[in-house]
Amino acid sequence: MGVLVIGSVAFDTIKTPLARSKNILGGSASYSSVSASFFSPVNLVAVVGNDFPDEYRQLFKDRKVDLTGLSVKPGKTFSWEGEYGWDFNDPKTIATHLNVFADFNPRIPREYKNSEYLFLANIDPQIQAAVLKQLTKPKLVICDTMNYWIENKRNQLLRLLKKVDIFLLNESEAKQLTGENNLIKMAKAIIKLGPKTIIIKRGENGVLLFSGDSVFCIPAFLLESVFDPTGAGDTFAGGLIGYLSKCKTFNEANLRKAITYGSIMASFAVESFSLDKLKSIRNRDIERRYKKFKQQISF
Ligand code: AMP
Repeated sequence: MGVLVIGSVAFDTIKTPLARSKNILGGSASYSSVSASFFSPVNLVAVVGNDFPDEYRQLFKDRKVDLTGLSVKPGKTFSWEGEYGWDFNDPKTIATHLNVFADFNPRIPREYKNSEYLFLANIDPQIQAAVLKQLTKPKLVICDTMNYWIENKRNQLLRLLKKVDIFLLNESEAKQLTGENNLIKMAKAIIKLGPKTIIIKRGENGVLLFSGDSVFCIPAFLLESVFDPTGAGDTFAGGLIGYLSKCKTFNEANLRKAITYGSIMASFAVESFSLDKLKSIRNRDIERRYKKFKQQISF
């Protein structure tokens, strides 16, 4: 059955203190679908312009990501330009061009309507809601967002959150959404908005999981050099939903393992620009790193 992913497929222009790159493949749905594909079959719903190259399309096909739901519309593909400082934390957005996403009205292919595992990757919450509405019986709905949408579509996001099981966001976005400064207070405030489980991403400081009364925290996998953090959150989410789609229940133990796999997937994404590293790894590389990480964090 697999995982259904909706989100942005983008051309990214990235500047870090170490390197820069122009119009490379990016987008929340690109990173998350490729990441999830290491665990489960993935169906992608998104839109690109007629400037989207075959080479990028091929990358998804190589990972067996189904592109039946990838629409091509006249116009330009969504593009985003971001710049990181030395801390490699939240990037400064230089430009967001919605282009073909501005009036995208997603139509879910008939064969995807029974999808049980849905990842609403970062995109306009109205588009996320439109996709969720078309599914007949989702078992698990995970949602991500970004400062851009908290600022520009807050009410639509709040409406959507009532129907979401797991909500992921960065620490700065949790602060922006709730007005709180303390992580526990942020999580408590977000739980009141609807989702039962909250995951707060903290970049190289790792991830926090709040579920019921329990809290789980793990650091990021230690790397000697981070090349470009773009897509780390989306890749994390892909690993998370990919792993959970193979579990019969979403209990605490499985959630913790899923978060650990998500963190491992993110550690690969940040080692190169775009999806360059992700497209070159194999499942055995993931397992090797997972084992090493487990040793590093257990006591
Ligand atoms: P992250 O995992 O948070 O680093 O996500 C980075 C990706 O988000 C980039 O590849 C961008 O193309 C994409 N992105 C940036 N801004 C937006 C936005 N407003 N809506 C959807 N996707 C975005």
